[in-house]
Amino acid sequence: MQNERQRSLHQIAVEQFGRAADIIDLPDPYREILSHANNEIIVNFPVHLEDGTTKVFTGYRIQHNNILGPYKGGLRFHPQVDLDEVKALAAWMTFKTALAGIPFGGAKGGITIDPSDYSTEDMKRIVRRFTHALGSNIGPDHDIPAPDMGTTSQTMDWVMDTYANMSPPGFRQSVKGVVTGKSLPCGGSVGREEATGRGVLYSLRHWCGEKNERLDSLDIAVQGFGNVGRHFALLAAESGSRVTAVSDHTGSVRADDGIDIVKLGQWVEETGGVGGFGSADEITVDEFFASDVDVFVPAALENQVTAKRAATMKARLVIEAANGPTTPGGEQVLADAGVEVIPDILANGGGVVVSYFEWLQNRSSRAWPAEDIDKRFRAITWAAHDKVADVLDRLGCSRRDAAYIVALERLADVYDRRGIFP
Ligand code: NAD
Repeated sequence: MQNERQRSLHQIAVEQFGRAADIIDLPDPYREILSHANNEIIVNFPVHLEDGTTKVFTGYRIQHNNILGPYKGGLRFHPQVDLDEVKALAAWMTFKTALAGIPFGGAKGGITIDPSDYSTEDMKRIVRRFTHALGSNIGPDHDIPAPDMGTTSQTMDWVMDTYANMSPPGFRQSVKGVVTGKSLPCGGSVGREEATGRGVLYSLRHWCGEKNERLDSLDIAVQGFGNVGRHFALLAAESGSRVTAVSDHTGSVRADDGIDIVKLGQWVEETGGVGGFGSADEITVDEFFASDVDVFVPAALENQVTAKRAATMKARLVIEAANGPTTPGGEQVLADAGVEVIPDILANGGGVVVSYFEWLQNRSSRAWPAEDIDKRFRAITWAAHDKVADVLDRLGCSRRDAAYIVALERLADVYDRRGIFP
């Protein structure tokens, strides 16, 4: 038997939905179809950089499944990006959108790159050339990227502008929905920037309701202080919880009375990372994982909560704000210790839900007010959590299995009705 180190991320993704498929006896063809991506696009494209040199970059777009609607999923710019990682992330998107009940499929893409090695001007050229290389493989009715690690609303504005300029003149205004997560002036939606973090907070609120716990009595540790981790930490602190430990790629800090998240945000903007933040104690990564908290929120990379780290954790609840943060071994250790896990496909779906609203607004050239966004956002998020809680009650499986069961039942229903072409 392979140990968890030897399992690829895509294998882990297939095993995760495979467990749920076993529980509901999912028909074999659907299991086989969902074990593969429909399309795996790899582009190698040259970019002329500011220093006069030319470099060839490798970019990916994996289109996992579109039975429920256009492919949908983020673009990740990170040195670790490879085919296996993007395949796993694309598959998770299919289950996430199915679970949320929105009419999208699943995809993911990215470039193997450390954005901090390049100037803004170079990044603009790289993004434009990548968009050109993808060509008609993306489109507002076909495949709709969004931000993920290492990409921002600025990246999405460049993708949209490049795609629009590659379109015939008469279509340039109607293709804004080729990406979501754009800045507001370029057709973005109110609430999209903080949507994933807000959705993670809703997950915590739902859990508190189920368990009769009070948000303002919880101590929380957050790994990752980027788009997702920072917004979640801010919203959790505003709701009365204490964020007592934060960690990122530059260091880890702890303050037992609660970290001032606004101040930490300013520090990270100035210095690029959490490390060295003077208003909290510097701790090691091992100490960070072993923090005496109620809730642990991984919001950085995959494979962070390993069996070894899980054995040291004191949290009663793990909310997977990141995609794939818990290894199978880590999950087993948490289950044995009675630690609950709210899985990624349920916990971090807020981003894609508000992306759906952005796409709808772009299609009708409208801008919905914040109250409308929040009302619809809550309704969709709550419905997904309620459905998962029902399956939990009915089958007594893990919350991850229950989330996959809700997603698989929706996918299987549509496959049953549509049939498999021809
Ligand atoms: P980001 O690039 O904005 O931030 C990433 C954070 O992770 C940074 O604080 C970085 O310092 C930290 N980090 C990187 N390597 C680390 C390491 N080795 N140890 C500790 N921290 C490390 O990315 P993001 O958009 O916040 O995405 C974070 C996670 O959330 C990813 O798994 C992503 O797929 C997932 N996610 C993001 C969105 C979204 O809307 N942005 C939606 C759903 C899921």
